[in-house]
Amino acid sequence: MDRAIPKVAVVGSGISGAVCASVLATNGVCVTVFESGRGPGGRMSQRKEIIEDGKKVFFDHGAPFFTIRDNDVMSLVCKWESRALVTQWKESFGCVDCVSRKFVDNEKEGTNKMFVGVPGMNSICGALCCEHGVEAKFGITVGKLNWLEDKHVWELIGFDGQNLGQFDGVAASDYYVVSPWFTDVTGKKPPLDVTSNPELALKLQEVSFVSCFALMLAFEEPLSSIPVRSFSFKNSDVLRWAFCDSSKPGRLSSSECWVLHSTEEYAKRVITQFGLRMPSVSLLSKVAEELLQEFQKTVLGIPQPIFIKAHRWDRAFPTSAVAREEKCLWDISKRLAICGDFCVSPDVEGAILSGMAAARNLLDCFNCL
Ligand SMILES: Cc1cc2nc3c(=O)[nH]c(=O)nc-3n(C[C@H](O)[C@H](O)[C@H](O)COP(=O)(O)OP(=O)(O)OC[C@H]3O[C@@H](n4cnc5c(N)ncnc54)[C@H](O)[C@@H]3O)c2cc1C
Repeated sequence: MDRAIPKVAVVGSGISGAVCASVLATNGVCVTVFESGRGPGGRMSQRKEIIEDGKKVFFDHGAPFFTIRDNDVMSLVCKWESRALVTQWKESFGCVDCVSRKFVDNEKEGTNKMFVGVPGMNSICGALCCEHGVEAKFGITVGKLNWLEDKHVWELIGFDGQNLGQFDGVAASDYYVVSPWFTDVTGKKPPLDVTSNPELALKLQEVSFVSCFALMLAFEEPLSSIPVRSFSFKNSDVLRWAFCDSSKPGRLSSSECWVLHSTEEYAKRVITQFGLRMPSVSLLSKVAEELLQEFQKTVLGIPQPIFIKAHRWDRAFPTSAVAREEKCLWDISKRLAICGDFCVSPDVEGAILSGMAAARNLLDCFNCL
C-alpha cells in the first residue's frame, strides 16, 4: 500500500461523511465515499418524483433547513454560500392550533437565520462528494469492515460480498454501521464490530433515536389559506411541522410542494404495530392518507393534492449526544472515526461538527506516521 498518500474510506454521504471527506481530500488524503443510497445527502436528501402529467416535483423530505451557532460551521457555510450551494430562506414562521384551527404567533422571520441547500438540501453533500480527491460510490452498502492487524489496514466488504478495497483509515458516519437495528432490518451482523474497544462499545450503547414520517404533497395551485410558508402544529398528536418546499429559493418544482412531518408519537405507534422492516407500499399509503386527513382537518381549504407519498425515517433524530466534547468517537490504534449527529447534537450543525472532528483526528494521525 502506498504510504505517501493515505487512503480513507468514508461510509455514508450524509453531511457528516461529506464534510469529513471534503476536509480530508483538501488536505491531500485520497478518499472513497461508500453510500447505500442512490444519491448523496442521507437525512439531507432531496426526493425527485414524476407526477401524472410527466412533470417533475422535488421535495426536501429530510431536514428542511438548518441553523448555525458555531463560528467554524458558519465560516464553512459562508464558503458554500460563495459557491452558490447554500442560501438563506427568508420566510415567515408560524404555528397552527389544531383545536381553534387558527394560525398564531406568526413571525416575519424565525429568530435564527434559516439556511437551505440550492437547488435542494442534498446539493451540499453532492458537491462535497465531487471535490478533487474524493471518489463517491453510490448504491453500495458496506457490509463488513475488517481490521487486518498484520497489515494495519482496513478491508471493506460490500453487503453482497464484493471486496471494496483496503484503506489506511475509516470514518463511519452512521450509527447504523454498529447498530443492532442493522440485524433487525437485514438479518445480518452490523458491519463494524467494536467489541475489541470496550470504551467505544459502551458509548455506542447510549445512542438512541426517534422516528418520524415525512409526507410529500404537491398541489395544482398555491395554498392561499395558509398565511406562512413554514409552521408547527399545536395540539396534534399526529403532525408536527409543515414546510412549503417550493417557496425555498432556487427550487425546480413548478407545482406547489409541501413536506409535513409526523410527531414522534405517531411514528412510534405505527412502528409498534407494523414493525421495523421495510414498510410496504400499502402501509405508506395508509400513513399518507392519515397525515393528509389531519392536515385537512386542521387547516381549512386544503384541496386534494395532485401527488401524495409518505416516507419513513427510522432514525430521524438522535436523543443522545455521545461525544459532545470530542465531537466524534475515535480509536487511534485502528485509525477509526465514528461520526454523525448522534455524537454532538440532533441537527445538521452537530453532524458538520462531528464530520470535521473525524477528519481532524485522521489527519493528525497520518501526520504522525
Ligand atoms: C424529517 C427530518 C427533519 C429534520 N429537520 C431538521 C432541521 O430542521 N434542522 C436540522 O438542522 N436538522 C434536521 N434534521 C436532522 C438532520 O437531517 C441530521 O441531523 C443530519 O442530516 C445528519 O447527518 P449525518 O451525516 O449525521 O447522518 P445521515 O444523514 O443519516 O448520513 C448517514 C449516511 O450513511 C449511509 N450509510 C449507513 N450505513 C451505510 C453502509 N453500511 N454503507 C454505506 N452507506 C451507509 C446512509 O445511507 C446515510 O446516507 C432532520 C432530520 C429528519 C429526518
